[in-house]
Amino acid sequence: KSGFVSIIGRPNVGKSTLLNHVIGQKIAIMSDKPQTTRNKIQGVYTSNHSQIVFIDTPGIHKPKHKLGDFMMKVAQNTLREVDLVLYVVDAAEAFGSGEEFIIERLKDTSTPVFLVINKIDKIAPDDVLGVIDTYRTKYDFKEVIPISALQGNNVPTLMEQITEYL
Ligand code: GDP
Ligand code: MG
Repeated sequence: KSGFVSIIGRPNVGKSTLLNHVIGQKIAIMSDKPQTTRNKIQGVYTSNHSQIVFIDTPGIHKPKHKLGDFMMKVAQNTLREVDLVLYVVDAAEAFGSGEEFIIERLKDTSTPVFLVINKIDKIAPDDVLGVIDTYRTKYDFKEVIPISALQGNNVPTLMEQITEYL
């Protein structure tokens, strides 16, 4: 199995932490400069039966000016060019207009989206279901996977789901 996957989400939700955890020390092609280039390869995950290329996107946020507007269009085109989108959110943050904005943009593309609910180590286990429910009502995610990128909880499951899907 192989394919292109882009990791999107608001700043500080844990996108880089997740990528670091997945890629580990195996790869040198890694950059954390936001909004500089288009379709930049951020890392390649390889195992016996899969090769998954993670793509950096210019980021999705509410445009504050014309250039921001242009960057948004680039980001959306990038989403169309990948096989799968991982939309990462912070389990400990209340759902707000920032997430609403991203979800509206997701509705403009037909690329399948997995919701990755990160930082579950910061909330009570009983509260995870509530977070899942909140997001599930907003969009038809192909999969919803709660993880802790920092501690690695459930990251192997996420990788299995990605590999199965590609
Ligand atoms: P990005 O802006 O989406 O790339 O977010 P980063 O990966 O830079 O993470 C932002 C902050 O959240 C850092 O201080 C991380 O250590 C922290 N963080 C990331 N994932 C987790 C997690 O699963 N649990 C906790 N508690 N903190 C996390
Ligand atoms: Mg980052």
